[in-house]
Amino acid sequence: MIVVKKPDELAAMRISAKKTATILHKVASKVAPGVTTKELDEYAAELARKEEGRCAFYGYHGFSGHICSSVNEEVVHGVPGRRVIRDGDIVSIDFGLVYGGFVGDTATTVAAGEIDPEWHRLLDATQRSLEAAISKAVEGNRLSDISHAVQVVAEGEGFSVVRDFVGHGIGREMHEDPQIPNYGPAGRGPILKAGMTFAIEPMINLGVHKTETLKDGWTVVTKDRLPSAHFEHTIAVGKQQAEILTIPELDT
Ligand code: MG
Repeated sequence: MIVVKKPDELAAMRISAKKTATILHKVASKVAPGVTTKELDEYAAELARKEEGRCAFYGYHGFSGHICSSVNEEVVHGVPGRRVIRDGDIVSIDFGLVYGGFVGDTATTVAAGEIDPEWHRLLDATQRSLEAAISKAVEGNRLSDISHAVQVVAEGEGFSVVRDFVGHGIGREMHEDPQIPNYGPAGRGPILKAGMTFAIEPMINLGVHKTETLKDGWTVVTKDRLPSAHFEHTIAVGKQQAEILTIPELDT
């Protein structure tokens, strides 16, 4: 069942999501050659403590990080650790925060130093595929209009869409109904209503769409070890247009 949030619930989600996005923005700005993913993780934990929020991923099915940090060929769920970020890497950071009883979930992929132009094109296309998807999160549309929009942009640029992981409803729980694939035909699935809240999160690969999970049980990598990008926003379906909830507070 897809929960339609009431105005007071949406108001609480705006606050939670803004804090989530602000923390992600600050952590992402620390990405640079020589920094370890563990250092990024500790910074996220410190910022969450200051905001009196709880890191949603920490302890989730035993996950040891406060963020997911996925470098280059790592798609999602990378475990922060001793890996040193190098010049030319791309780093996907995914962060979830629980505040006031609601979860915010957002991700971005950033470049460390100078990256390959083709990788830059991948980041740009992934971000644009998310924007296209969000533009479809409008009352009266069907759920798969969101999915289809991602696929059109990503494949239109010659990239491939990860099938094994999907976006999701979000609210009091990190994962609520529905699941939101990033591919498929338009015009299918439930009709969207204003007040539904989704975490839309395209994961786009430079090479093949297939993935595998490393022996740590968490880190998902591309089958061909070519890079992958991941962008995510928590949004609310609107009557005329979607509202992006995970917009950072940039002046704090
Ligand atoms: Mg998510």
